Amino acid sequence: MPPSAHPTALRGPALTFTGDPFRDGLERTLVHEPDAIVAMQDGRITHFGPAARVAPLLPAETQIRDFGKDALISAGFIDTHVHFPQTTMIASHGAQLLDWLERYTFPAELKFADRAHTRRVARAFLQENLRNGITTSCVYCTVHAHSADILFEEAEALGLRLAAGKVLMDRNAPEALRDDVQTGYDDSLALIRKWHGRGRLLYAITPRFAGTSSPEQLAAAGALWRDHPDCLMQTHIAETQAEVAWIGELFPDRANYLDVYDHHGLCRGGAVFGHGIWLGDDELKRLHATDAAISHCPTSNFFLGSGMFDIARAKQADRPVRVGLGTDIGAGTSFSILQTLNEAYKAAQLNRHPLSAAHAYYLATRGSAAAMHLEDKVGSIAPGMEADLVVLGMRSTPLIAFRMDEARDFAEQLFIQMILGDDRAVQATYVAGRLVHER
Ligand SMILES: [Zn+2]
Repeated sequence: MPPSAHPTALRGPALTFTGDPFRDGLERTLVHEPDAIVAMQDGRITHFGPAARVAPLLPAETQIRDFGKDALISAGFIDTHVHFPQTTMIASHGAQLLDWLERYTFPAELKFADRAHTRRVARAFLQENLRNGITTSCVYCTVHAHSADILFEEAEALGLRLAAGKVLMDRNAPEALRDDVQTGYDDSLALIRKWHGRGRLLYAITPRFAGTSSPEQLAAAGALWRDHPDCLMQTHIAETQAEVAWIGELFPDRANYLDVYDHHGLCRGGAVFGHGIWLGDDELKRLHATDAAISHCPTSNFFLGSGMFDIARAKQADRPVRVGLGTDIGAGTSFSILQTLNEAYKAAQLNRHPLSAAHAYYLATRGSAAAMHLEDKVGSIAPGMEADLVVLGMRSTPLIAFRMDEARDFAEQLFIQMILGDDRAVQATYVAGRLVHER
């Protein structure tokens, strides 16, 4: 869908970031404007600032929608790790990672041989994203090439900036879910040629993880990425201790888990590694040095009993790693980014490094954009950025409204939202300047 050519604007309190508060502090990076105007045209933000300053600059025909003082305008949320086929199996009971794959994931993904089923799930998945204010995501499809085709078709119809890839998986999975080195490469290449850079869409080369790709398939994925270096690459790493031990047995010659990917040309900027809970210091150093990213998926990590990611350690000042936020549906338990931040806070608490609300909102927006190396396009509000926005209602339930009356400052208001808020707090979602969801 083409972006609207008419100038439009939103008015209300706004929050955004000009840089990384983990590195440079909140004082230098957080922008909170109590009465802002965000103006948009042709899919991009044209103006942002205090309403009194911006209003006189706007073209006379600009339609301004005032959300009032109990709203908060933010860049759209970004989900850096999610499996759209697993929308069908969210909330499945009682397994840890490797059993979970066998018992729930693979049976669910087998059904995506059917195109009608695939399209139905892709549509439900994208609608749920918009209901939760998620305007960009980095998505795993299934092994079937058409699963990526169909998701891209549906995302294109909505005008979304979205990255996705067909899963590469040539071992340790049911036969009907396995590709091989050649077909996996050929299908991925065809999808890159068809979709990467078309409109706002991006291809992510997607080996599921080292347990389900042979060394030859990882090498082929590395070769494909070398030939198409501006694609993303996504995979899983160090989610559970049992998985780390198993990968050590499968790749006895590699120094550590990350080295398995690094050795095959899969560790550099544009790589998004899911989880990374059990990475060692050498691996974090290497992620920093190569500018690769970790996707922190706290609802999934708690649900599967995988562990609690230590974001303070990942962001350690002498070797900070790019970290984004992921729902990891369907091991993750919520499409709500607010609820995902709630669990990120608890993971940080268990590591004895409380996460501030402002740092958390950075993670959900600009931090996740940076994890995907898209921070020059999405994830913050500034002229020239793509006009993907979420408007939160700050009094979305009786309890939140009651609690907000007691909040002493903006930091506390933000924290209340991420602990008590959910999809009901998402008042409106804009993609490329167009309203795509409203409560
Ligand atoms: Zn995952």
